[in-house]
Order: sequence, then structure tokens, then C-alpha cells
Amino acid sequence: MHIKKQYLSDWKKSEKSNMPTNTFNIESIVRPHILKLKPYSSARDEYTGKSGVFLDANENPFGSVSGEAFNRYPDPLQKAVKEKLAIIKEVKPEQIFLGNGSDEAIDLLFRAFCEPQKDKVLLLPPTYGMYKVSADINLVETLEIPLTTEYQLDTEKILSLIEKENKVKLIFVCSPNNPTGNQINLAEIEKILNNFSGLVVVDEAYIDFAPEKSMVHFLDKYPNLIVLQTFSKAWGMAALRIGMAYASKQIIDLLNKIKPPYNINQLTQEKVLEALDANELRKQKVEELITLRENLKNALLEMPLVEKVYPSDANFLLIKVPEATKIYDKLIKQLVIVRNRSSVILCDNCLRITVGTAEENTKLLKALAEI
Ligand SMILES: *Cc1c(COP(=O)(O)O)cnc(C)c1O
Repeated sequence: MHIKKQYLSDWKKSEKSNMPTNTFNIESIVRPHILKLKPYSSARDEYTGKSGVFLDANENPFGSVSGEAFNRYPDPLQKAVKEKLAIIKEVKPEQIFLGNGSDEAIDLLFRAFCEPQKDKVLLLPPTYGMYKVSADINLVETLEIPLTTEYQLDTEKILSLIEKENKVKLIFVCSPNNPTGNQINLAEIEKILNNFSGLVVVDEAYIDFAPEKSMVHFLDKYPNLIVLQTFSKAWGMAALRIGMAYASKQIIDLLNKIKPPYNINQLTQEKVLEALDANELRKQKVEELITLRENLKNALLEMPLVEKVYPSDANFLLIKVPEATKIYDKLIKQLVIVRNRSSVILCDNCLRITVGTAEENTKLLKALAEI
């Protein structure tokens, strides 16, 4: 596989050879000063060879006092990880951005595309809380169109809003959605992609637990699509802080241009490379979790206390109970911690329960039975 060495400097060139075919034009949506920005050039950007006497980065030649080789700066563009990940995901390495959790990618999208106090973002609640926090940090106004009562897109309303609101730069679609657990219908997402001149960000943090395929396979079809995934859930590596954004090379080049130079540390890069080699085992573990989810769902449905268990395509279940906050507090007294989502729109009296091990799920069920 051919790997592009210079991700950053050929942004200007690639723009000509890779012009989007539909009306989407990235230059018209990126913040002008970001387009012009000359990025920080690190020692490892300037000399990419593997051998030599490295006296260019003011590193310590002795190694770390812990005895491990952490004295050298890590690869700023994480090429080894991207090469392996690209094969698994069936994308090109230059279509991958790696961030300190997908949360970093979310923040960088605001910084690249949204002019504070001018541009806007469209959110579709109930959904992941980080989009709103990131928008608020970046002083970007949020517009909201709630999901339908089936937790699907209200496509008509979304389309009519983006038709009259030309300041909306980003739309966040979370699928499978957190906290509701369901996947969003693909045809509806495609309607938005086809009719929106900004970027549609599809957050697929839970995609490995879902029956429908990832939208990474649509990247060549939609130049305004960004897909977010993470190593925090199905890969079981939340502590390492690494998430992915997949998009066109132009968009990825922009994110690389503005990220902190060494945003993924050496240890994380090494551990993720090991994990990618164990992809088959990961698939088994995901299957195991899906079985546990279905078992937990069936057990919950038998409990008189549980009014509803919503369909889940993720590694958690949203349930409806009478007096969610009381039940939440009683569970905490028994040291079983779930997420109280009852104050969230369309989630009255709802608790979100992560699928645990068989033993953990049994503890939850026992605690619930005692309420
Ligand atoms: C858990 C989760 C993430 C993961 O974020 P990281 O920063 O990669 O750990 C992203 N999006 C959603 C919707 C999530 O629920």
C-alpha cells in the first residue's frame, strides 16, 4: 500500500487533483485563517528518516530513568498505526486522523470550521453531551432539532432548517446514538449529506456493536462526511485516549495542521498497534458483549420495576422505570452505579446501563430486585 509521506505540505496541491464532484467546497467552509495557517513544523516533520545520530529535538540521549525507551518524541502522524488501521477499515491512511480520544477530533472540528459567535452547529438531542460542551468552549451557537419519539432523525425539519440557515457548518449525528442506543437510519443520514453544504459528522463510537455497517465506506461518495470512531469502547482501551476521524484527505490534512504536534503518545501508539494485531480476538469479545446485552435485556424485561427496555445496537441499554432518580439513588446505596438520564429530553425516567461482565450484570439484577 502506498503511504503518503507528506500529509501536511501537499494540502495546496491535493486540492486541485481531488476536487469534490458535488457542490461541496471545503474552501468555502473552512475558517479563512486556518486555511492560510502555516503549521508548526516539528523536528520529526523535517527529518523523517529512521537512522542517524538524532541531535535535532533536544531529547535526552540516556533514555528515561524508568528504564524504558521513552526519551524520543513519538511519530506526530502515527503512520504505523494508520497503515494497519487503514487495512482493517478499508480506507486510505491519509483518510485517517488520530486524536486524544474522539473528543479531541470533535474540538478540532469546531476550531477548523466554526467562526466563534458567527457560525453555528446543529445538534439532534437526546445525544452525546460533548458536542454541546465543545461548541460552548469554542463560543459557537448550537441549534437543536430533537429526534422523533422513535429516536430517529426528524429529516424534514432538519432539511428545512439548513435550507434557511446558511451559518450552520456542522451537524452531529450519533449512530448508534448515546444515550438511546439505536442506530440512525442510513437513508435519512444520506438525505442530509446530499442536501447540506457543511459537514455531517457521524459519531460511530458504538458501531462495532451494531448490525449495520460503518459509514466509512461512504467517504468517497460524500466529501462532506466525517466519521468518528474510538478505541474506548469495542477495543476496550478508554484509558489510552485514542479516537479516530475518517474523512477526505483535505479534511484530514486540515485537522493534522491544527492538532498539537505529538497528540498521541508513544505508549498509546505501541499498545494500539498490538491491539490491531488482535483484531480477531476483539471481534470475539464484541460478540460476547452482544450476547451479554441480549441476556441482560431479557432479564430486565422480566422485572416488574422495568417499564421499557429500548432496542440497543450498542454496549448499553436505556431503560424506563417509575421514579428513575429514586431507583438510581437506591442502586448507588448498593454500590451499583448506572447513569441517570431522566433529565434529558425524550428520556423521562430513563436510566442508561452499561453492559458489564456476567457477574456484574447479575449484581445489577439482584440490586434491582431488592428495590
Ligand atoms: C464514549 C463516546 C465517545 C468516546 O470518546 P473518546 O474521547 O474517544 O473516549 C465518543 N462519542 C460517543 C457518542 C461516546 O458515547
